[in-house]
Amino acid sequence: MAGFELAAQYALEREQFGSPIASFQLVQEKLATMLAELTQIQLLTTRMAELQEQDQLTQAMASLVKMTTARTALAICRQARDMMGGNGLLLEHHVARHLTDMEVVSTYEGTDSIQALIVGRDITGISAFTRKTGG
Ligand SMILES: Cc1cc2nc3c(=O)[nH]c(=O)nc-3n(C[C@H](O)[C@H](O)[C@H](O)COP(=O)(O)OP(=O)(O)OC[C@H]3O[C@@H](n4cnc5c(N)ncnc54)[C@H](O)[C@@H]3O)c2cc1C
Repeated sequence: MAGFELAAQYALEREQFGSPIASFQLVQEKLATMLAELTQIQLLTTRMAELQEQDQLTQAMASLVKMTTARTALAICRQARDMMGGNGLLLEHHVARHLTDMEVVSTYEGTDSIQALIVGRDITGISAFTRKTGG
């Protein structure tokens, strides 16, 4: 949310080619996509919380949501960073910090790959990360 809000505000303030970059169609498309993705993961996490409250959340569902929300939030932060150009890399503009935070979220409590393997095991019934013993 912070990445989206910072990028939207920056786009209104930053002028290039004589206009705020928010007036460019490609920039508006990026903002629209970011908001759509943000809304999707907010709904996913809300539904996951509802299922947890009803004691219906499975491990695979939680992995699916963790994988999806971390991937999407990382993509939103990367897009926000891109929209702020070189300034997006400076800590004083905060987006790089949020991007790094999302790299952490993508890693801890199970990496993206491990979450995918948990979902894959649920879909196929085959564990791809349990070492097979010979015999
Ligand atoms: C900021 C931060 C805070 C943390 N806080 C905590 C905490 O409070 N408590 C805690 O217990 N831990 C914590 N961790 C640790 C975190 O949970 C681990 O870093 C994370 O689970 C990944 O484990 P690892 O670093 O050992 O990576 P590894 O398991 O060594 O993985 C390295 C790479 O190999 C991939 N990989 C591993 N196995 C497979 C496989 N079978 N198939 C395909 N790819 C595979 C991984 O996806 C990853 O890309 C924290 C980490 C960070 C960064």
